[in-house]
Amino acid sequence: MNKAIYPGSFDPVTKGHLDIITRTSKIVDHLTVAILKNPRKIATYTIEDRIEMIEMVTSKFENVDVAYFEGLLIDYALQQDTKIIIKGLRAISDFEFEFQMALANQKLNPDIETLFMMTNSKYSYLSSSIVKEIASMGGDISSLVPPEVHYIIESKFRK
Ligand code: ADP
Repeated sequence: MNKAIYPGSFDPVTKGHLDIITRTSKIVDHLTVAILKNPRKIATYTIEDRIEMIEMVTSKFENVDVAYFEGLLIDYALQQDTKIIIKGLRAISDFEFEFQMALANQKLNPDIETLFMMTNSKYSYLSSSIVKEIASMGGDISSLVPPEVHYIIESKFRK
């Protein structure tokens, strides 16, 4: 069975993430969306909220589930018995960091491969930070986030 992990902060999930999840779910047998619990990074949404939002937008996919992990991605991949890490690439700016990470992970465990999926051109500008920036100033984020979680995302910024 071809199992893959799609790691990230998902703080919060966007239509860009969902596009990568949708496309990956068609080419692997099983996909785990894995939220990195990073003690060095202050998140806007709790792990529980992020899990709930991803569950809501992926409930229609039978082969997708959600989890969170702490520590090294490569250790988590081993623990999950998966050899495929999926990353999305939006722009050259993503490439440099992801290239370094992929090579470091390859060094740590050459059996685990990082596969890159090119962004959908509709979402090449989209990030969780952009969504939060717009929502915090009262802008309309409906075209940027899945409709099921729009309300939850906005509720953080409602006065
Ligand atoms: P961000 O806060 O920048 O959205 P995440 O850590 O949540 O970052 O991203 C998780 C993964 O999803 C990364 O591999 C990232 O490159 C990818 N990703 C995020 N947004 C998009 C998008 N709009 N199109 C394609 N891939 C994306």
